[in-house]
Amino acid sequence: MGKPTGFLEYLRELPLDRSATERIRDWHEFHLKMDDAKLREQGARCMDCGTPFCHTGTIMAGGASGCPIHNLIPEWNDLVFRGLWQEALERLHKTNNFPEFTGRVCPAPCEGSCVLGINNPPVTIKNIEYSIVERGFDEGWITAEPPAKRTGKKVAVIGSGPSGLAAAAQINRVGHHVTVFERADRVGGLLMYGIPNMKLDKNYVQRRVDLLTKEGVEFVVNTEVGKDVPADKLRSEFDAIVIATGATKPRDLPIEGRSLTGVHFAMEFLKANTKSLLDSNLSDGANISAAGKNVVVIGGGDTGTDCVGTSLRHGCKSVIQLEILPKPPLQRASDNPWPQWPKVYKLDYGQEEALEIQGADPRTYLTTAKRFIGDGRGALKGIEICEIDWTKDDKGRFVPVDVPGTSRVIDAQLALLAMGFLGPEQSLLEALGVERDPRSNAKAAHGKFTTSVPGVFAAGDARRGQSLVVWAINEGRGVAREVDRFLMGSTELP
Ligand SMILES: Cc1cc2nc3c(=O)[nH]c(=O)nc-3n(C[C@H](O)[C@H](O)[C@H](O)COP(=O)(O)OP(=O)(O)OC[C@H]3O[C@@H](n4cnc5c(N)ncnc54)[C@H](O)[C@@H]3O)c2cc1C
Ligand code: SF4
Repeated sequence: MGKPTGFLEYLRELPLDRSATERIRDWHEFHLKMDDAKLREQGARCMDCGTPFCHTGTIMAGGASGCPIHNLIPEWNDLVFRGLWQEALERLHKTNNFPEFTGRVCPAPCEGSCVLGINNPPVTIKNIEYSIVERGFDEGWITAEPPAKRTGKKVAVIGSGPSGLAAAAQINRVGHHVTVFERADRVGGLLMYGIPNMKLDKNYVQRRVDLLTKEGVEFVVNTEVGKDVPADKLRSEFDAIVIATGATKPRDLPIEGRSLTGVHFAMEFLKANTKSLLDSNLSDGANISAAGKNVVVIGGGDTGTDCVGTSLRHGCKSVIQLEILPKPPLQRASDNPWPQWPKVYKLDYGQEEALEIQGADPRTYLTTAKRFIGDGRGALKGIEICEIDWTKDDKGRFVPVDVPGTSRVIDAQLALLAMGFLGPEQSLLEALGVERDPRSNAKAAHGKFTTSVPGVFAAGDARRGQSLVVWAINEGRGVAREVDRFLMGSTELP
C-alpha cells in the first residue's frame, strides 16, 4: 500500500465517455483513456485490506461477490500507484488470460465487494485493470509465448468464446496441441458476435486470437462439431475434448403474432449487425435495420441494453424496453448488504444514450407484452402491453398477474426478444452422450469439469448456463487444469 491516506485524499474518478449524441453516430468504443497521474491517484485509493473481499470470488445470495478469477487487485493497485506498470501487468496475467476483455465488459463484482465501498465509492478496479493491459499492449510488453516443449497430446476445444479461448490458452501453455472448432466464421463466441462493437471493439478480440495463433493454437472456423465434423471423429482423433459451446438457446415469447415479420430474438439482431459491420460496414444489407422504426425491446437486462444501443446507432424513431420486474432501489436494500453483488438501479450505456436522445430512461418496469399486432400484410405494427403485479400463488411462489384496465397498444415495427437463455443446444451433448443437469446444461462439477464421458470435459455457459465473461474465463482456466491432470497424471496449472 503505497499511500495509506489515498482513500481519504482522492475521490473516485472514472475516465470521461464520449457524449451520447456523438457516440451514437459511430460504432467505436466510447470510454476515453485516463492519464497516468489520475490512474495513480485511483490506485492509491486502495486500502490493501487485510482481508481483501474484492478478490474472493464467492457466490453470495445467488450472485458473485468479489472477482471470480481472484485477480490480485490490491497488489496491482499498489504497483500502479508506484508507476510499476510492467510488474502490474505480470500480476494481472497470473490470474486473467484476457484482462482486455474483462477490463471492458465485466460488471465488476469486485467493486461491489470493495471494503472502501462500505461507506465511500469503491476503488475503480475495472478501469485500472483495463489501463494496465492496454498499457502493456501499447508498450509492446505482451507478446506470444509459445511453450518450450510439446507433449504430443492433442486436445479439441469446441467453441471459441471466452471459456474455450481461456482453456485453449492454458492447455497450449503446458505443451499440448490444441485445436479450437468454431461454427461461426470468426473466432470469439459472444465476445465477437454477442457484445456489440461499441462495448468491445472486435479488433481487440482478433488481437488476442492472433497472439494465441502465434503461440500454436489452431483455429478451425465455419465448422460445427456434430454436423460438419462427426462427434465420433473427434473422440477418436483427440486425447481429450472440451465442450465450451455456450448457452445459446434463447427464451421465446410464444404469444399471438409471434411469427409476424419484425419480431426477432435479440441475438439474431445483434449477431447480424456485427457480422454486417465487420464484413461491409453495414453496406451489404445483411443486418436487421432499426432505422426509422419504433423499436420495443422485451427484456430489461444487458442483452436488452445492447439492443437499445444498436437501435439508436441505426437511427430508430424510438426505442423502449419492457421489464417485467420492479425498478430496483437506488441504494442497497437491507437484505442485500455489502459485500453481496449490489442489486441497485443503474443506467447502463444504452439507457444513458436513450435518456440523452429521447429524454427518458427507455425502461418501463412491471410491464409485459400480451400480443403482437400485424398490419394485415404479415408485418408487425404494434404490441399490446399491460402492467403486472407480482402476487403469491397458493404454493407461496411469486407470479406475475395482469393489472386490470392497464392494457394498451403501442406502435412497434421491430420487437426484439431479450428475455434470457435456456441453456446449451442439446444435439452435440446428445451426440457425445454427455449427461445433462436438471437445467439441461452439460453435467459436470465446478472445479472438476469432467462430464459423464471419460475424456470429455465441459466449461463456461455450456456447463453453468448463461453467465459472465469473467466466469467463462474462470471455467476455461479450471478445465485446462483438469484436462492436463487427466492427460499427464498431475498438473502445475492453477
Ligand atoms: C448480447 C450479450 C451481451 C453480453 N454482454 C456481456 C457483458 O457485457 N459482460 C459479461 O461479462 N458478459 C456478457 N454476456 C455474457 C457472456 O458473453 C457469456 O457469459 C460468455 O461469452 C460465455 O462464454 P462461453 O465461452 O461459455 O460461450 P460463448 O461465448 O457463447 O461461445 C460459445 C461458442 O461456441 C460455438 N459453438 C456452439 N456449438 C458449436 C458446435 N457444435 N461446434 C462448434 N462451435 C460451436 C458458438 O458459435 C460460440 O461461438 C453477454 C451475453 C450476451 C448474449
Ligand atoms: S475481472 Fe471483473 S471482477 Fe475481476 S477484477 Fe476485473 S472487473 Fe473486477
